[in-house]
Amino acid sequence: MAQEDVFKKLVAHCKEYGFVFPSSEIYDGLGAVYDYGQNGVELKNNIKKYWWDSMVLLHENVVGLDSAIFMHPTIWKASGHVDAFNDPLIDNRDSKKRYRADVLIEEQLAKYDEKVEKEIEKARKRFGESFDEKQFRETNLRVIENQGKRDKLHERFTQALNDGNLEDLRQIILDEEIVCPISGTRNWTDVRQFNLMFGTEMGSTADGALKVYLRPETAQGIFVNYLNVQKTGRMKIPFGIAQIGKAFRNEIVARQFIFRMREFEQMEMQYFVRPGSELEWFEKWKTTRMKWHKALGFGDDNYRFHEHEKLAHYANAAVDVEYKFPFGFKEVEGIHSRTDFDLSQHQQYSGKKIQYFDPELGESYVPYVIETSIGVDRMFLQVMSASYCEEEVGTEGKSDIRVVLKFPPALAPVKLAVLPLVKKDGLPEIAREIIDDLKFDFNCQYDEKDSIGKRYRRQDAIGTPFCVTVDHQTTEDQTVTIRFRDTMEQKRVAIGELRGIISGEVSMKKLFAKIV
Ligand code: ATP
Repeated sequence: MAQEDVFKKLVAHCKEYGFVFPSSEIYDGLGAVYDYGQNGVELKNNIKKYWWDSMVLLHENVVGLDSAIFMHPTIWKASGHVDAFNDPLIDNRDSKKRYRADVLIEEQLAKYDEKVEKEIEKARKRFGESFDEKQFRETNLRVIENQGKRDKLHERFTQALNDGNLEDLRQIILDEEIVCPISGTRNWTDVRQFNLMFGTEMGSTADGALKVYLRPETAQGIFVNYLNVQKTGRMKIPFGIAQIGKAFRNEIVARQFIFRMREFEQMEMQYFVRPGSELEWFEKWKTTRMKWHKALGFGDDNYRFHEHEKLAHYANAAVDVEYKFPFGFKEVEGIHSRTDFDLSQHQQYSGKKIQYFDPELGESYVPYVIETSIGVDRMFLQVMSASYCEEEVGTEGKSDIRVVLKFPPALAPVKLAVLPLVKKDGLPEIAREIIDDLKFDFNCQYDEKDSIGKRYRRQDAIGTPFCVTVDHQTTEDQTVTIRFRDTMEQKRVAIGELRGIISGEVSMKKLFAKIV
């Protein structure tokens, strides 16, 4: 199946099974804003717990915070967001559609990469075992030509971004003959900068209301609480502060479902370190974060690091963790070495001393910061994309397709469904007793409607790892059938064994064991 079709099906599945709904749907929706349904919210909470516990429980020197969304407006001046939180935009005059100039060029770079990869894959198939990729890359004319074009474009693009040269960004789009995907024309406007922050007003005073912003990142709430946490928690450097919360960006090109939203959620951790040690910590956090992703078992080849073309004004090193979505490798997480930029800026703008006295060095300094920043919603999309499967299964001699979400059990919204085979003979009562016994440990669901096969399919479609069926034999010997989602294998076990079997599989400890 083509990857675009997989993605379309995934989006439809999210809606049909109560994971994600378009916001304000009965009013025809609101662009790039989404609501999470009954299963979506459980999955989202589990993702947040996986992140939170991996930060705060597994690291004794990382503590949590929950800061307000509204903050003093000077914070956004100090952070640079008022002056520099811009995207370069370009409009196509024929379709009247607006695009991010940098994204159009990045997509062009990806096209060259694809061409090169295609040649290599073709050759690999042709030559089999004896294929030497390095030699092929150095000698194949088509590969050399496309790689050359890509490298030249990359260099020019990086230069234009770093110089903030909007005219050259436009010229690159013209020179590369990039067309608008809607109109197919090259009738482009100039490139302009657009600030992404949402503004609103707070209260009313004699002089007028205070202009405030909806935070575009959670990080600043951590920086302005650095002193509070360090002092009250008696934290010693190095230490980290973790926070999960909503962020808002007036994204212009809001496409690809929950990949790019105007209201989204971030999980950010700022790690405060001694100046000069930041690049070492940057490398450590890169490794730690990649392990966290890979522990989910979605395939190591589906991840890569991507170095930034342009460093943000505050950073001296930055890398993205990219995941292979159905629409290609895209960022899910950013890891940034933010230097002492933010704390120094807040020190200057607030007039308050924001420093750390290092008892080992006997001196005070403004700490340096390593940030790990991941979007909950993008992570949700990663988990969904990786887990969605369509499988051919044979039932009663007929072939049939089952749609199953193969979530890591620790993230699954519902851990087990308890299904009485029939709605009589005391079976529903036993099923209820099982649920009453297990519901404080696991999210359980009771279902008695339709045939057992249909009920299994419904649970597969929401990724429930275990189905427990109560039948007439249960009334005699207190045993039930437990069915495993991925293998569809069924086993007869005693009711008393259920807790042990399920907890071994759904515990987050299993994931944490892979990352410590
Ligand atoms: P992009 O280049 O895709 O716009 P970014 O580099 O601006 O992302 P950061 O500012 O580093 O993103 O934000 C950290 C993380 O927050 C991203 O890796 C992503 O997971 C998430 N994120 C950022 N913007 C959005 C958005 N509009 N919708 C959903 N998640 C987002």
